[in-house]
Amino acid sequence: MKNFKYSLFTIIISLCSAFTINVKAQVNKFELPKLNYSYSALEPYIDEQTMNIHYNKHHLAYVNNLNKAIVGTEAENMSLEEILNNVSKFSETIRNNAGGHWNHTFFWNIMTDKKENKLISLNLKNIISNQFGSFENFQQKFEEAGNKRFGSGWVWLIKKSDNTLEVISTPNQDNPLMDISQTKGKPILGCDVWEHAYYLKYQNRRADYLKSFWNVINWKKVEENYNFK
Ligand code: MN
Repeated sequence: MKNFKYSLFTIIISLCSAFTINVKAQVNKFELPKLNYSYSALEPYIDEQTMNIHYNKHHLAYVNNLNKAIVGTEAENMSLEEILNNVSKFSETIRNNAGGHWNHTFFWNIMTDKKENKLISLNLKNIISNQFGSFENFQQKFEEAGNKRFGSGWVWLIKKSDNTLEVISTPNQDNPLMDISQTKGKPILGCDVWEHAYYLKYQNRRADYLKSFWNVINWKKVEENYNFK
């Protein structure tokens, strides 16, 4: 009888832990977002193979690694934005992969193949020109910041809490929403300057990639980002 009770106890415990493992394995809190265009849609500026690998391999890896890394942490119950706002409390793995997921989701959305979305409104163009002296000055600053980023990272146009705009760059998968960011603000435009974003087509010519980037920007989305409260 004692043995039977012991066995029953073991079985129940095993079932419980099997269930827990099963439940944990099924938690996919974060998911790869849908792309609004085909892999070849941004040709010739961003090539099909780069888009495919960037989205299906790199971005997916950030999503999968983030889902794994948050298990058993406070981040399990937080939105992606909340994780970024509190990122100093979490591991480097969460920081890198939460940033990677947010940054790439943002990046896909501020690019487009649709002509009508590529037109910048006079309103937004004036806001940017007034801030940087001219629109061309802004473009030059943005390209410069992207080219100067040593190693891997991002270049951003951000809107700060006082509503002014600034061009900044962050290393790795950091972004200006993170509590550890030197300059904080809301990204309204951003470009991935990791080699994986351009190497197949541009090799070491990051400057050419950044010049091409102006041809695929979804200015409609950028303006939405600017106006979003
Ligand atoms: Mn990337």
